[in-house]
Amino acid sequence: MLQANLELPRELDQALNAGATGLGLVRSEFLYMNRDDLPDEDEQFEAFRDLAKGMNGRPVTIRTLDIGGDKIADALAGMTLSAGANPALGLRAIRLSLKERKLLDTQLAAMLRAAAFGKLRILLPMITSVSEIRRVREALVQVAKRLRRRGVALPEAMPPLGVMIEVPGAALAADALAAEADFFALGTNDLIQYTLAIDRGDEQVAHLYDPLHPAVLRLIQFAIEAAHRAGIPISVCGEMAGDPRFTALLLGLGLRDLSMAPSNIPRVKQRIRAIDMIAATRRARAIMDQWDSGRIATLLDDFNALA
Ligand code: PEP
Ligand code: MG
Repeated sequence: MLQANLELPRELDQALNAGATGLGLVRSEFLYMNRDDLPDEDEQFEAFRDLAKGMNGRPVTIRTLDIGGDKIADALAGMTLSAGANPALGLRAIRLSLKERKLLDTQLAAMLRAAAFGKLRILLPMITSVSEIRRVREALVQVAKRLRRRGVALPEAMPPLGVMIEVPGAALAADALAAEADFFALGTNDLIQYTLAIDRGDEQVAHLYDPLHPAVLRLIQFAIEAAHRAGIPISVCGEMAGDPRFTALLLGLGLRDLSMAPSNIPRVKQRIRAIDMIAATRRARAIMDQWDSGRIATLLDDFNALA
């Protein structure tokens, strides 16, 4: 299933026109960027509700705030930036949300209210441990209670709560995380950055940023197997999902849900139509036996050249 990643709500039409079967990743940072103040619950609710309505029953996966590291919001700069620290490893994403609970509670309340208008899923960025998921689940229960006291009608069932697998430690602990999370979304952009210690925004080391590095592929495989063992859905929403070069490999490794920028959907769809699934699975197995990323690239590109 091909889903869309949205950075801005106005990309919704493009996603629908491309035939997206859902929104696999809505980056909620758009609500916080390019402004001096913070969005309140109502503003966030309206944005999420419009997406849920617009997708008309198809899944809408909204990620809590991922500010910090490469993503900047002026109103939060005082909280996230500490002098001399490494922002990529600092107080960002879920760590910030759990420290500044009002940020998290506001987003959870907006998402719970929007869940009445569609098939909403909540996704948590930069998760590294099960305790982070448990704390968010507790927050979700408390926020739901508070909303009900306020007289807000909420759906009976809580929306599924999933986690990004984008830190190597999370991929290695995927079995434990799968016991707590309702779904996984593989964030290959950060997974590659943190596995290979390559800053994803640094031009000088961009040539070393290698999606086919065997360490990256093993972590991906590990997370897929853990998700399958636990019986929870897993998708990919990093840039790898939107590049047809990697489609046969991702499918061959057992992935079925790919989420990408809407503009990439048509070419990945076209690529999928040409893939022989049995051959792709066999090729993925051959690739996973290799330790040299040059050899892996050759095996993949040769396979892609066949069809
Ligand atoms: C990722 O890290 O792969 C991802 C999808 O999240 P972002 O690009 O927003 O960090
Ligand atoms: Mg990421």
